Amino acid sequence: MQTLTLRCTLKPAPEQAAALEATVRLFAEGCNHALRVAREKGEFRRFSLHRLVYNDLRSMGLSANLAIQAIARVGRKKGSRARFYQPTSAAFDVRTLSLRGESVSLTTTAGRLIVPMKLGNYQRGMLARAKSVQGGVLTKGPKGKWYINLILRLEVPTPPTGGGKVVGLDMGQRYMATLSSGIQVSGGGVKSRRIHLRNKRAEVRSKLDTGRTKGLSALWERLSGKERRFVDHTLHTLAKRIVDSLEPGDTLAIEDLTGLRSRTVKRGKEARHLHNLWPYARFRSLLGYKAALKGVRVVAVDPRDTSKTCSRCGHCDGANRKSQALFRCQRCGYQQNADLNASANIAQRAGSTGAGRRNTAPILGISTLHRPFPKAHAL
Ligand SMILES: [Zn+2]
Repeated sequence: MQTLTLRCTLKPAPEQAAALEATVRLFAEGCNHALRVAREKGEFRRFSLHRLVYNDLRSMGLSANLAIQAIARVGRKKGSRARFYQPTSAAFDVRTLSLRGESVSLTTTAGRLIVPMKLGNYQRGMLARAKSVQGGVLTKGPKGKWYINLILRLEVPTPPTGGGKVVGLDMGQRYMATLSSGIQVSGGGVKSRRIHLRNKRAEVRSKLDTGRTKGLSALWERLSGKERRFVDHTLHTLAKRIVDSLEPGDTLAIEDLTGLRSRTVKRGKEARHLHNLWPYARFRSLLGYKAALKGVRVVAVDPRDTSKTCSRCGHCDGANRKSQALFRCQRCGYQQNADLNASANIAQRAGSTGAGRRNTAPILGISTLHRPFPKAHAL
């Protein structure tokens, strides 16, 4: 079993939106009351806090469940950290949240509401696979949009043993992902769009330094949100492409931790900048759960010298790397697309022969790399 959070946009009718608004307001008031009492009494332990404030919260109009959720929220936080709760979210559990087809049923201050959700294919797929819904968090976005973050429990298949192939994943800049099975995912316009958003943000930041106005602050917030959503979407898509190309029982070998950061030929300012372009930990966790859901194992291997080592004879030499794109072994003459050679090394470190290509792969020109796949998949 695996737990994951699925974010869905809500489409509340106007009177439903008003009820949601009233609910998050009351919930925030409840949290703030519990926080005030907890501070006064120096008591943040959940059970003790419960005794102190539960009745107050109920008389403020919170349902039993929302009262418990408010206490849990305050109780979790250590006194000094929490200052004030904004009326932008409320937590629900299995008794106050359930799914009704493509709608979510929520117990609010105005009673039970059935609010339609706006679902994409990804969300539909996840909901169809979910064993159960463990509750969720209702949130209000900056533009007044409503979202529900559903907490789902999913059955994770046990990967079949034996017979699966081991595929290495190399992550780079020219191609966001290269698999030793031959698949490459190019960043397409992704990199330049990310840089564009970053530069715009930097511009606004420098203006913010000289004088903060409401308009500028709002612009900054908007750009941050835009960039975050763009990054998230890109990483989801990338992880999905990778996992879609694998079968249950396969093993995906990835570089340990450093990944994107570890290998850049260029050391200029731009390259350093790009190192920090993608949140690798986030990507790994996305990849991890998507793989788990498909019955694909993920193993992390030592990332050292994967770009300089010959995947055919094991010779390691910086001179093997003829260019960013091309690998040519100084000892055995093996020539290969540099990213593909690296991904084959990564697969080998996980105990494979790189999806069987190690000895059978002819010396490929870069243009024929994608033979099993007409072209690199652009994101
Ligand atoms: Zn060699």
